[in-house]
Amino acid sequence: MKGFFDGVRRHIGKMDAEHLREQYARLSDEAASLDTLFRTISIGIIVLDAQGVVVKSNPASKDLLGMEPADAMPSLGISPSRASKRELDVTYPEERTVEVQCVPTDTGALVYIRDVTAERERTEEELRAGATRAVRDLAAGVAHEIGNPLNALSLNLRLLERTNPGDEGVAECLRQVDRLAGIIHGFLQALRPSKPNLARGSVADPIKGCLATMRAQFEERRVGVALDITGPLPSVALDKAQMEQVFFNILKNSLEAVKDGGHIDITLSSDDDSVIATVRDDGQGMTPDQVAHLFEPYRTTKEHGTGLGLMISSRIVRDHGGTIAVESAPGEGTTFTVRLPRIERRIRALEG
Ligand code: ADP
Ligand code: MG
Repeated sequence: MKGFFDGVRRHIGKMDAEHLREQYARLSDEAASLDTLFRTISIGIIVLDAQGVVVKSNPASKDLLGMEPADAMPSLGISPSRASKRELDVTYPEERTVEVQCVPTDTGALVYIRDVTAERERTEEELRAGATRAVRDLAAGVAHEIGNPLNALSLNLRLLERTNPGDEGVAECLRQVDRLAGIIHGFLQALRPSKPNLARGSVADPIKGCLATMRAQFEERRVGVALDITGPLPSVALDKAQMEQVFFNILKNSLEAVKDGGHIDITLSSDDDSVIATVRDDGQGMTPDQVAHLFEPYRTTKEHGTGLGLMISSRIVRDHGGTIAVESAPGEGTTFTVRLPRIERRIRALEG
């Protein structure tokens, strides 16, 4: 297409009426077939201007979002200048998981919406059964074997702590043992995904829990972590252990992305619908292509990565009725945004 336009532009001064009519006819045929494609393709496409206003959208985008794209835009929180991707569960007109991807263009952005319900179910199925079973059983066995002596260590260290109050060495040992226990716990959780055990609580709790377990790792790399809580936080329904796993995965990725001495900023805030946690790092960031494949299993850029952390985190957040989104650009760091519905909203959604 670009070649065609360039050619026409170069020669337009020399074209006679007949020639121009011919090119016009070609162009209108092309436009008509692109328009048919736009209207019939099963992928939702939304064209945004530079301000994020919907310029054009196709019927599939409305079907997949369950509402007019212009009405859905505010809650998607897309900024057209940044490549981003998020997964969300929609309940209307049917229950499904959709992936919303934003690709910046010269004039604004293109937003693609895809139904990934079957894909996600399949990978989760595969994770539970199939080729991973042998590895899972072995790993679970090993983790279990490590778990028992760790429990004994922890128990005895706590006794020691009681008889030696204020001993930094004992306290440090306890911290490290708890950290190991946490890792193993998270590992077993990842292998055996379970529905969250929801209880009323604050999003700040799992984050603070994570920061406590990860403190030694941050200090070692001289990474500064700031936690900023804006206003009183409404309660959410959460499974603290599972949400700790989510923030552990996100924070660990940030820690792995930043240089020594880097920064991670965590903010907690709320709006009418949700409690919003953002984790922003000033690390290496991601290319639009990397962003495009995020949340897919086994996608890793790390030598010893599993590429499962974000897939599991995304499932946990969706099981909480929330969404997880990422925004990133190479060299500009990465921001993860986790939104959980305020408890009264969630109860209403379940009743409705
Ligand atoms: P793993 O950490 O095992 O690779 P994840 O699912 O946690 O698996 O992450 C998948 C990939 O996403 C990572 O390999 C990395 O390329 C990218 N990624 C995730 N978080 C960040 C971040 N904060 N900064 C840069 N890249 C990231
Ligand atoms: Mg990871």
